[in-house]
Amino acid sequence: MADPAFAWPAGVRAAAAITFDVDAESAILADAPEAAARLSVMTHQAYGPRTGVPRLLGILERRGIRATFFVPGHTADRFPDAVRAIRDRGHEIGHHGYLHEPLFRASAEEEETYLLRGLDALDRVLGVRPEGYRAPWWEATYRTPGLLARHGFRYDSSLMDADLPYLLVTGEGPAARPIVEIPIQWGLDDWEQYAFVPGLTGSGVIESPAKVLELWSLELDAIVAEGGCFVLTMHPFLTGRASRAAALDRLLERMQAVEGLWIAPLCEIAAHAASLGLAPVTHTPPSP
Ligand SMILES: [Zn+2]
Repeated sequence: MADPAFAWPAGVRAAAAITFDVDAESAILADAPEAAARLSVMTHQAYGPRTGVPRLLGILERRGIRATFFVPGHTADRFPDAVRAIRDRGHEIGHHGYLHEPLFRASAEEEETYLLRGLDALDRVLGVRPEGYRAPWWEATYRTPGLLARHGFRYDSSLMDADLPYLLVTGEGPAARPIVEIPIQWGLDDWEQYAFVPGLTGSGVIESPAKVLELWSLELDAIVAEGGCFVLTMHPFLTGRASRAAALDRLLERMQAVEGLWIAPLCEIAAHAASLGLAPVTHTPPSP
C-alpha cells in the first residue's frame, strides 16, 4: 500500500498525531435520541467537554504538544466555551459531522446536509473553516472523498488500509483534486478500551489504563521502527478521566523521548504528504 515515493521531512523517522473526537452527547443521540431524557447518560457524555477537555488541554500544554480535535457541530453549539478553549490553545479543529450522523444509511443529499450543518456550527461558534474531516464512527462512504474535495477539505482521517498517509482520488475530471488520507485503526482508539454506557454502547469491559498504555506503546514502537504514522484517537469523556489521562501523559513522555519522531497535528502531516507528488489511490466497492 505504501507509495515508494513517500518520505518524511529531513531528520524525521516517523510521525505521530494526537487526536481527540469531542463527541460529547452527539454520538449517543445520533443513535438513541430518547437518551436525551436520561440525565445520568447525558452527564457521562458531558464529562468530556466539562472536565476531560480542561485536564487534557493542561497535559498538552505542559508537554508543548499541538493536537487535532474533531468537533461535531452539536458539541460546538452545546459547549462553546470548551471548544473555544481548544481553539485558543492553538490546537487544530476538524469536522466530525453535526450530530455524529451515521453516513452508511444516509442518502447523498443527507450526507452533504450533515457536512454543511457541521461547517456552519464550526464557523458560527469558532470562526473556523476546518481543513480536515473524520467521519462519525469512522464510517466514510465511497461518496465522502468527492464531497470533501468539493467543499474545500484538504484531508480525511477515517480509512484503515495503510500505515502512511496517501493521496485519495475524489472523482473524475480536473475539478476533482485529490485529498490526503491519514489512516486510523481500531487498536489506537480508546472507545474499545474504556467505553461503557449500559444498554447503549461499549464492550462492557473497562480496561486498565496500564494495559492500554502497554497496547499503545507496543504499536508506537513498531510503527516508529517501520517509519509509519501513529494516529491515536481518543474521546475526552473517556481518556479525560484521571488515571487514563495520566497514562496518556506517560505515553506522550515516551513519544517525546523517541529521536526523530515528529509529533504534529494532522493538518501539518497532511500538508507534508500533499507536497510529495504521490500517485493517488482509487477505492472501488467490491462486488458482493
Ligand atoms: Zn466520534
